[in-house]
Amino acid sequence: MSNKFDVLVIGGGPGGYVAAIRAAQLGFSVACCESNPYADPKGEPRLGGTCLNVGCIPSKALLHTSHLFAEAAHGFAAQGISVGAPTIDVPTMIRRKNTIVDQLTSGINGLFKKNKVTLLKGHGVFTGGGEGAWQVRVGEEAIEAGQVIIATGSRARHLPGVPVDNKLVCDNVGALDIDAVPKKLAIIGAGVIGLEMGSVWRRLGSEVTILEALPDFLSVADIDVAREASKVFRKQGLDIQLGVTIGEVKTVENGVSVAYTDKDGVAQHLEAGRLIVSVGRVPNTEGLNAEAVGLKLDERGRIDVDAHCRTNLPGIWAVGDVVRGPMLAHKAMEEAVMVAERMAGQAGHCNFDTIPWVIYTHPEIAWAGKTEQQLKADGVAYKAGKIPFMANGRALGMGDTTGFVKMLADASTDRILGVHIIGANASELISEAVVALEFGAASEDIARICHAHPTLSEVMHEAALACDKRALHL
Ligand SMILES: Cc1cc2nc3c(=O)[nH]c(=O)nc-3n(C[C@H](O)[C@H](O)[C@H](O)COP(=O)(O)OP(=O)(O)OC[C@H]3O[C@@H](n4cnc5c(N)ncnc54)[C@H](O)[C@@H]3O)c2cc1C
Repeated sequence: MSNKFDVLVIGGGPGGYVAAIRAAQLGFSVACCESNPYADPKGEPRLGGTCLNVGCIPSKALLHTSHLFAEAAHGFAAQGISVGAPTIDVPTMIRRKNTIVDQLTSGINGLFKKNKVTLLKGHGVFTGGGEGAWQVRVGEEAIEAGQVIIATGSRARHLPGVPVDNKLVCDNVGALDIDAVPKKLAIIGAGVIGLEMGSVWRRLGSEVTILEALPDFLSVADIDVAREASKVFRKQGLDIQLGVTIGEVKTVENGVSVAYTDKDGVAQHLEAGRLIVSVGRVPNTEGLNAEAVGLKLDERGRIDVDAHCRTNLPGIWAVGDVVRGPMLAHKAMEEAVMVAERMAGQAGHCNFDTIPWVIYTHPEIAWAGKTEQQLKADGVAYKAGKIPFMANGRALGMGDTTGFVKMLADASTDRILGVHIIGANASELISEAVVALEFGAASEDIARICHAHPTLSEVMHEAALACDKRALHL
């Protein structure tokens, strides 16, 4: 094997593997190294990074199983279906999740072979170099590459004094492998991961308490969506406590004890069979020896990049969770394609203003563009159209009428500025909004597009009509 490549990608997650494939498609000789934290039983590195191994994909598999369970337990009867009280075989649920992970991660090995990307097994460490030739040691191999793409991703942030053993106290890795339904589950952090994991185990019967330090619930989302979500999740039985300060966390017989102060400053104490810590993620820059070659980090320890993911060093790029911006797999993949195309002299771009956000609870939450509170803070004059799923025939037929679509458009130009959805299939519906935002569409454009009937997408259509106060079905 040659140890010289046009491009070396460090990290095989969504940012890394997509960058490697696109660069190879564009004619570069490409290697991708992966340091193997998710080795299969034979010790072979699994590609796919956090997303495929311990993130997006396994969490959605568990969310799906637990949703079916909840429907069988609480939803079927209203439609005349009786199946008795369902039971859950957790090991089967986990095995199914693992099979999906295996299938997808090995699929990427296949894509590497197809695109002639060389997979290097080992941790990438910069050893030197400069423009045109960077030296990186991967395991025992000394590799030289004209250009390097750093896609080393992120890992769970842990709380000081709260050791994670991924048995009783779990981060995202252990949370996706819990082997029995805990009677009580405590979660620290009411962000996306905390809410998704909380939903899985609540649906399967756990009493779930989520402790959140911030005083506001889901403040990153549009204020109306956050309010609706808070109402719905509490009705589902998630005990969400805001404005708490976490104190001592210790393991006790059969579980974990969490001391905390509630929003009124009163000392509280919670005992649970398991604790999930989901308080954000830390960029993986350690062990890269990046500073030794002069790579600049930003104030939050991420690799400092410009809008095209160029670092301060010529020929070194960085994408995904290790750089600024939302820690989302599709954002990492967009940046990856942009970088590969820019390396080839093309005009690859990533529109950070249209990246969709999704929370895969039930109802799902999805948005793209600006929230109402952002528009207010920016002093932008806007109009809003908000339509509930309750007014939609398909949603009624599905028995899934919670939530709404809210469209925000510029008051004078009518250009769509943001779309916010809480409701069934929001993750799929948001794509129409992303297309609209990407092409600078007006609410009138969506209003004039024919939407199939009966579909949930008609709520988007009605929300566009409502921006002009001419909704037809409300
Ligand atoms: C529970 C959970 C659920 C999530 N759900 C979603 C979701 O539904 N949708 C979504 O968009 N995002 C989701 N995310 C976020 C998503 O997983 C990340 O944004 C995405 O994986 C980032 O991709 P990446 O390539 O930048 O990094 P990663 O996926 O973290 O991959 C980085 C890879 O680099 C390797 N590596 C690190 N350092 C080195 C080195 N020096 N040498 C060689 N290899 C190295 C690591 O082993 C890893 O495999 C979720 C995350 C979690 C934890």
